[in-house]
Amino acid sequence: ERKAALAAASGPGATSDGHKVPLLANVGGPADVPAALEAGAEGVGLFRTEFLFLDDSKSAPSEEKQVAAYRQVLEAFPEGRVVVRVLDAGADKPLDFLTPAHEPNPALGVRGLRTLLDHPEVLRTQLTALAKAAEGLPVYLEVMAPMVADRADAKAFADACREAGLQAKFGAMVEIPSAALRARSVLQEVEFLSLGTNDLAQYTFAADRQVGAVSRLQDPWQPALLDLVALSAEAAKAEGKSCGVCGEAAADPLLACVLTGLGVTSLSMGAAAIPYVRATLAKHTLAQCERAASAARAADSAEEARRAAQAVLSGE
Ligand code: PEP
Ligand code: MG
Repeated sequence: ERKAALAAASGPGATSDGHKVPLLANVGGPADVPAALEAGAEGVGLFRTEFLFLDDSKSAPSEEKQVAAYRQVLEAFPEGRVVVRVLDAGADKPLDFLTPAHEPNPALGVRGLRTLLDHPEVLRTQLTALAKAAEGLPVYLEVMAPMVADRADAKAFADACREAGLQAKFGAMVEIPSAALRARSVLQEVEFLSLGTNDLAQYTFAADRQVGAVSRLQDPWQPALLDLVALSAEAAKAEGKSCGVCGEAAADPLLACVLTGLGVTSLSMGAAAIPYVRATLAKHTLAQCERAASAARAADSAEEARRAAQAVLSGE
């Protein structure tokens, strides 16, 4: 029993009956790598590359500078997975030289992949830098685009990856309800999905993630959000592909069990949350997680969903 407890405290993420759910770290750059390793992350599920672009408000970082930073992160996870998100500029992460000025609704404007498709040279440099950074390393590189709305977006991104000669899996973040509703169509162009539940909540509830007054609607336990997670995970399963979560939702141990029950295949979070999520997941079977997920989806509010899942998981 002690041995099992120790494995659960440090080993790979899994339910008590052995259903594997890789626990990955969200990182913003090489500085976050030590904490991820310390927490026993099985890789990186979201490498936010924005940090590299914040040093200079007038231009993109050089290819060389990008190669060096990407390589540092990739080298830290030999044989592990590293999912790199291409630049997500605009809205809450504006960049002077890329983000259009005076958009009436920046969150609904040119941001994420939209920005990159308007500036193909920035995307090309980033993809080329990633290809060079991964050269000769045994890492499983996956590259994904933020703010994919539909199949056309996914195809434009996959085409750009192929043109840059990138040897990696290409994926789409599901942050816009349209992408969740038509996940099977998006999956015709890419090999995996990753749910960005922060933005997905913002766009599902028309509730700005930066406005505290509407934070009730940003609660990731909202059953409508759980429905969109379920749709995405079911589509991925039907296509034989993976669907992870890399938003804040994955860091809540109880919700992590519910997400697992909804069919999500990996969970990526800030490193500090990994031990808690690992420990909670290890206490429940996949069937319990599935029952908790059904109970949460049957609820009419975030509060009720949380209570219902808690009741199932504590065996009440
Ligand atoms: C998200 O939207 O959930 C996400 C992971 O991306 P970010 O928080 O960087 O927008
Ligand atoms: Mg996002």
